[in-house]
Amino acid sequence: MISRFKIGSMPSTLSDVVRCPLCHSAAVVYSCEPKCCFNHVCGECRASFQLVTRKTGRFDRASAIAPAEPASGDPTAACAACESLKLALLSTTAENQATLLCGDCRAVLELAIEDLAPGS
Ligand SMILES: [Zn+2]
Ligand SMILES: [Zn+2]
Ligand SMILES: [Zn+2]
Repeated sequence: MISRFKIGSMPSTLSDVVRCPLCHSAAVVYSCEPKCCFNHVCGECRASFQLVTRKTGRFDRASAIAPAEPASGDPTAACAACESLKLALLSTTAENQATLLCGDCRAVLELAIEDLAPGS
């Protein structure tokens, strides 16, 4: 199911990892305001889903990473610990599977998809 997923040499933002869970399109947009509902919509099949993070219980204060807030419309998630939007991608293994680092509280987080609803 991940055959269409190609990771670039330097995945660095959520838009490099987030794909529609149903059709695997990369045309995923976050149409709401930062820090609102985190409801994302697939531009191909109109599926909607929430992008969330989960705490791993780990912290990383050593990595020299200073992430910025995502551009408007780009896939956006908030830190599960402090709600910051400044998340950096630490590693990724497949689409929608990533380890993130919060630039504010330095919590290590896992990306997750919730409330997936097919487009009508
Ligand atoms: Zn909203
Ligand atoms: Zn889709
Ligand atoms: Zn945080």
